[in-house]
Amino acid sequence: MWPRVLMVGLVAWFACGCAGQNSAASAARARGFDKKIIWVWGPTRKTPADAVRETDLCRSLGYNVMVIDGPPQYIKDILPIAHERKMQVWVLVSWYGEWGFPKLVPNVPKDMVQQFPPDELAGLAKQTNPDKPVHPGPFLCFDRPEVRKYAAELAIATVQTYHPDGLAVDWVGYRNYRACHCAYSNQQRARYASEHPDLSPEQAQRDYSLTSMAAVYEVVRQAAKAADPNITIGCHVYPQFDPEPLCGNRFAVDYPAQTTAWFFQPFWPMEKVAENARTTKATEHKYHDYVTGTGFIGMTMEKPNIKSPERLRQEIRTIKAAGLKAICFAGDGFYADPALAQVISEEIGGTYRAPAAK
Ligand SMILES: [Zn+2]
Repeated sequence: MWPRVLMVGLVAWFACGCAGQNSAASAARARGFDKKIIWVWGPTRKTPADAVRETDLCRSLGYNVMVIDGPPQYIKDILPIAHERKMQVWVLVSWYGEWGFPKLVPNVPKDMVQQFPPDELAGLAKQTNPDKPVHPGPFLCFDRPEVRKYAAELAIATVQTYHPDGLAVDWVGYRNYRACHCAYSNQQRARYASEHPDLSPEQAQRDYSLTSMAAVYEVVRQAAKAADPNITIGCHVYPQFDPEPLCGNRFAVDYPAQTTAWFFQPFWPMEKVAENARTTKATEHKYHDYVTGTGFIGMTMEKPNIKSPERLRQEIRTIKAAGLKAICFAGDGFYADPALAQVISEEIGGTYRAPAAK
């Protein structure tokens, strides 16, 4: 996530005549999503009153899951408040520098951090692609067993500390969107390539990185489920993995939020949004029966990346039209904007109505 993102119904919708079109369309929309997830960025929220206000707003918009980070006391406060209001709370689990490391792991050795050749490192410091924010890091190298062990311990501690409904994992990925080049990763990748002589060097790198990412999710899932068998696992599939961006279905995650429409200008063409959504739906069970394909919409209130209400409506409808049963939104408080809130509420089944214009 960044910064600090039915066929039966459709057939009925398209098949109906003009007379019943509106009612059929609204019925199709009502059947839309089962899981409606809002990634709430919480550092500025601190008090129980903040928790009540946030939960009431999210619920009125139609959401039924809030992903929370922020001060530990705030997380503890919001859980009973959310449950009284029939909302689930998933707690962020991340070991990316800004939130996890080094705050939670002050003594991690430097060699556990992802490394890159000097010429590549220089390129990573400068943003050249609007879709790819520059990450100052440090990213832990999750190819390493000790980092996976830490990831499992963090997942267990989060479950035992908060007893949330779910964990939302973020920032499992490579800072260069492809692969780590620390000594350990290089050695393991070389071994993988020698064990798969039929693969080209590019295929071997891609497959090794995918296998490694999948392994860390598996570790997190097993640890979390051991602590609470009913825990739900969600994630944002980010940073994007360049060789296979729509790889969330590979991971041991119940709701892998697959970036469908990204945050930044130029906004992705709606054809690309639609293709992402269709692929996410068509392949949701390719690797795990328990995966629910989840469309992700990134939103920000920072100019020039503010999406119009109509653009947001298009993105939601496109994800819904693909038949996805879960949708996830992330952004910096965009849902408090009355015009955007109104669209969300209309499209995902909320009760919010924007104040009348004066
Ligand atoms: Zn590494």
